[in-house]
Amino acid sequence: MDIPMVPTVALAIQSMGISVASIQPWEEITQETLDELSNNLGDDEDIPHSPLAPNIVMAFTDSPMVVHTRLSPNCSKPRNNIIDMIAIHVVAGNCSIETIGNIFAPTTAKASSNYGIGSDGRVGMYVQEKDRSWCTSSSAIDNRAITIEVANTEAKHPWPVSEKAYAALIELCADICRRNNIKKLVWIPDKNNYGNMFVHRWTANKACCGDYLYERHGEIAEAVNQKIGGELTVDQYNELLKKIEGQATTIKDLNDKIEAQNKLISDLLKGPADNGPSGDKPTSWFTESTGYCKRKGIFEGDGHGNFDWQDPLTREAGAQIVYNTLEAAGALDKLPDIVLPEDLDT
Ligand SMILES: [Zn+2]
Repeated sequence: MDIPMVPTVALAIQSMGISVASIQPWEEITQETLDELSNNLGDDEDIPHSPLAPNIVMAFTDSPMVVHTRLSPNCSKPRNNIIDMIAIHVVAGNCSIETIGNIFAPTTAKASSNYGIGSDGRVGMYVQEKDRSWCTSSSAIDNRAITIEVANTEAKHPWPVSEKAYAALIELCADICRRNNIKKLVWIPDKNNYGNMFVHRWTANKACCGDYLYERHGEIAEAVNQKIGGELTVDQYNELLKKIEGQATTIKDLNDKIEAQNKLISDLLKGPADNGPSGDKPTSWFTESTGYCKRKGIFEGDGHGNFDWQDPLTREAGAQIVYNTLEAAGALDKLPDIVLPEDLDT
């Protein structure tokens, strides 16, 4: 069998207990592949955990895009955090989703990912979303993130991926965001001040996710946000027009139509994610302030663990928050009353 790898790599694969029989001739498994896809258990030393209310219950689901499932024993069950991040990795080789599953199968690999994407655009699953994969060399990140391994078309810098894999990656990220109520992907290329996209090179001495995908993280976020965002699509707009078409014959009729139109637009913009309980999912860089406000009773949510952190605030809600804050600080009387114009004698 024509396996395009150096003999030492073949030996390493066999010694790791990985089956070589199913490896296709076009697949490239290099030493870098094995380095990337091994021993990613890591530790959680200097990565801050997202503060999580213990009462959070999340209905975890898996992606309907998955066409091949081979669950790896290398994971922690269940994950200890809600899903509020995505970590994109590269395989560092051109492996099929079946081979990625083979590599993650032996316990000696000490590594896994939630999903894998082959150069053919097919999606495999190795760890269910409810569980924590061993992928990003950080317990804290893996407990928060869905991890995705993407195959490379060339096993060398800048570790490019195929168009099909790239398109599938964007679809998969959008699917993950929708199902886990992540409203927006935010890419900040700073390991000390990241958004909700994380790269392996920040926790381990690895090139992962390769410069090809690293440079495209902003573009990926934009494409995903367009898919999940609050913009009406052309189809949605046409559907809307169909529903409210017809001439108004009276002022009341016209007002009714305008009201119906406004309601339809606001319902469409809300999207499916807003129809259920919102839970307690502050965007990652607001975790400290939202956690503080919860501990101090400034935000109380709805009593069922729903805090609507991403919802807009009315002026009256703002007034209540200021009142709660000063009351909690015992400082309601500290502010002097202002003099209103009607109180002036002149
Ligand atoms: Zn990686």
